[in-house]
Amino acid sequence: MRFDEATYDVLVAGYGPVGQILTSLLARDGHRIAVAERWPDLYPRPRAAHFDHEIHRTLDRLGVTAALGDDVVEMRSYDWRGADGELILEIKADTLAASGHVIGHLFYQPTLERTLHARLREAEQVDLFQGWELVALEQEPDYVTATLERTRQLGEGRLERTGEQRVVRARYVVGADGANSRVRTLAGIGEDDLGFAVHWLVADVGFDDPATAERLFAKLGDSTQWCDPRRPHMSARVGKHHRRWEFMLLPGERPEDFADADAVWRMLAPWLEPGEARLERHVVYQFSSRLAETMRERRILLAGDAAHVMPPFIGQGLCSGIRDAANLSWKLDLVLKGTSPDTILDSITEERYGQNRRTIEVSLRMGQVSCTLDPEAAAERDRAFRSGQAPPPEPMPGLSGGIRHDDPLAGSLGVQGLIEHDGRQGLADSVLGNGFCLITRAEPHLSTTDRETVAAFGIRTLALGHSTVDLDGRLTGWLVESGVDAVLVRPDFYVFGSVRRIEDLSALLADLRQQLVVSEDS
Ligand SMILES: Cc1cc2nc3c(=O)[nH]c(=O)nc-3n(C[C@H](O)[C@H](O)[C@H](O)COP(=O)(O)OP(=O)(O)OC[C@H]3O[C@@H](n4cnc5c(N)ncnc54)[C@H](O)[C@@H]3O)c2cc1C
Repeated sequence: MRFDEATYDVLVAGYGPVGQILTSLLARDGHRIAVAERWPDLYPRPRAAHFDHEIHRTLDRLGVTAALGDDVVEMRSYDWRGADGELILEIKADTLAASGHVIGHLFYQPTLERTLHARLREAEQVDLFQGWELVALEQEPDYVTATLERTRQLGEGRLERTGEQRVVRARYVVGADGANSRVRTLAGIGEDDLGFAVHWLVADVGFDDPATAERLFAKLGDSTQWCDPRRPHMSARVGKHHRRWEFMLLPGERPEDFADADAVWRMLAPWLEPGEARLERHVVYQFSSRLAETMRERRILLAGDAAHVMPPFIGQGLCSGIRDAANLSWKLDLVLKGTSPDTILDSITEERYGQNRRTIEVSLRMGQVSCTLDPEAAAERDRAFRSGQAPPPEPMPGLSGGIRHDDPLAGSLGVQGLIEHDGRQGLADSVLGNGFCLITRAEPHLSTTDRETVAAFGIRTLALGHSTVDLDGRLTGWLVESGVDAVLVRPDFYVFGSVRRIEDLSALLADLRQQLVVSEDS
């Protein structure tokens, strides 16, 4: 057995998109990371197809969105069609959302993973152990010992363990190892099952001829849900060169009924013939809804599907995992640097469990309405939607607890706008980079203690109309509408807190210090 003497700051188990993004965020902050992934290579097929405006900000911070090129497009529309195939609901999605990007984006996941991998492979502070499966974990008071075992690929979709082992030590381990997380099991963390389990056939096609793709996309729209009680199904473009179809399996149908490509082409026949596109893969998934009871067991943390799985009706599974990564990374950064005690890591469950649970519930409600197999319920839904009684889209939940001040804006998602600051113009994130951000409508007068807090947490200040020009008026509009003079935004874009009068800023900063730093008397 090999023993890696170095103690890493974090071992990330699982190199799917959430593991990759978490590793990228932690490495960017200068931490030493080991990654264990049981497969020798990246998984070459897409699962997620949609990410939202908030996730766009995280991807921007890693500088990868632009690198996706044609493999990401803005989602302009999301249509629902009723039992007769006619439009019952048209959701225009091309408006600017809080984060300074349009609401949704449709992307080709393998390009995102390849882009992140190309950077991580070159990152000096990251050791990638691909082809190594995490098989055991031991928690010690100051670190965790993980045993990895080398794997050998036997064929597509099959691996075996070789018996060769190595031991890796890290201050923290994050299980980003997917829905059947070994880390979760080894840490003894149970799951809450929210009771949804339905099989869907997923088929991804690629187009060699851009004209064929554009013709079809123009006809079908960016994303369409057929709420047909005879067989609910949906289709969405996946960047510029791919499209996805998903079909619900009906009672009595079995996954093996759709194992061969001919069966899938029969399902695609209303839109496509075999010569027009490549069937890149087809697979039957069981969509389910589960949540880990906690995301922290001492030095072991969970992120992504390891912590929550949900049906993809609102395209939020991966988005939720990326939110976990954004949440975990800034807290781990403060703990690893010694600025904060590791008790702040308890807030990960406090904040993310509730948010994930509400996201799953929204997804389940959407699924119930769009996927009913009852023709009468479907007819009633179609009538109601046509007469304008469709329920409005449910907003994504904010943070109801955790590290936040006690005020009405705290826990909501921060707004991003175009600014000019220090001679640079652009969206605030690209001008400022990563970290806490204090946005004020007046020049703040900081006491010595305030300045120490600002320095300790690397808080950047945007004094609108003073040090900062608010180019599109969005930040000023946000503060004015909220009736506040100042708002403090966390590195994961959620509002820590706000004050109505700039004179109360010291109290807000004192609360941040109190929540994130061990008190001097303890
Ligand atoms: C059909 C479908 C459509 C979807 N659409 C969307 C969408 O539009 N938008 C959205 O946000 N989400 C969507 N999702 C959900 C999304 O795909 C998942 O939430 C996301 O892929 C989870 O990423 P992850 O990194 O947490 O887990 P995974 O992608 O499962 O990665 C986990 C990794 O851990 C590795 N691993 C497992 N065990 C070990 C071990 N013991 N040792 C080492 N490595 C290990 C695995 O090999 C794998 O590489 C969809 C899902 C499906 C199935």
